[in-house]
Amino acid sequence: MTHPVSGCHDIVPPPSLQDWLRASGLARSDALALLREFAGVSHAALLAHPEAALAPRTLARLERAAARVRAGEPLAYVVGWREFFGLRLQVGPHVLVPRPETELLVEFAVLRLDPQRSAEVLDLGTGSGAVAIALALQRPQARVHASDVSAQALRQARANARRLLPRQRPGGALHWHQGDWLRALPAAAGPFDLLLANPPYVAAADPHLLALRFEPTLALVGRRADSDGLGEIRELIAQAAPRLRAGGWLALEHGWDQAAAVRALLRRAGLSEVHSLRDLAGIQRVSAARRPPPGDACH
Ligand code: GLN
Repeated sequence: MTHPVSGCHDIVPPPSLQDWLRASGLARSDALALLREFAGVSHAALLAHPEAALAPRTLARLERAAARVRAGEPLAYVVGWREFFGLRLQVGPHVLVPRPETELLVEFAVLRLDPQRSAEVLDLGTGSGAVAIALALQRPQARVHASDVSAQALRQARANARRLLPRQRPGGALHWHQGDWLRALPAAAGPFDLLLANPPYVAAADPHLLALRFEPTLALVGRRADSDGLGEIRELIAQAAPRLRAGGWLALEHGWDQAAAVRALLRRAGLSEVHSLRDLAGIQRVSAARRPPPGDACH
């Protein structure tokens, strides 16, 4: 018996949400994020109607996004944002994707600043503006400056600040500066109560750079590439120490194995109360030190 020859106009039924999720080849959390972002389907909606069909245009959008994630691009660039300190920061390829461990810098800063008092604060190498904006929201009285060597990063940071900060804040609008660490600012700026940075600290030959290849080398390695990854941190500490107010703090993020070296650099720069803070993984991730407060110069 012969089968009837099927016509050439067979319609392939559109995949359901569940079909797409299974066939996507992505980690479930990534696939769910893409469904939410590009199909407007929440996790709850997926659970309620896994059989719902995907419209062809939505499917095409999802597929384009999924291909980027499969190629190794960070999800944050594909969806265009990443959450940091409860804020939705827009991120593109000119800025590092904000990491949860960098929230430690903000936590340190929040603890150091009296919410009732004004203070001069600078976030060096602000990138997406994550640290500066989170701190500006937590401490509305602080005058917050942010610098970056990249004009494109500063554009992204300013756009984030426009969206996330109230129009009027007691400490005023954020101040943006383009240039090399503190050289971005006029010589008269400061002295600072708090200098914060998540600088580039990956060694130029670090094999992990392959996994980070979609993020800017300028933010990961910097322009003073060194075999130990500390080239930019050395320069940053040298520029920063003299700009601290007596009693003011410098805190910076660094690599998992750099804490002792960074503490030594902070001590050599004449700073005191040198210590490191651990991230949620238990890794010494941020080191901090202060310019000796007045009357404390002999310690
Ligand atoms: N923490 C990042 C990483 O190694 C690097 C960030 C940086 O260089 N500031 O994935």
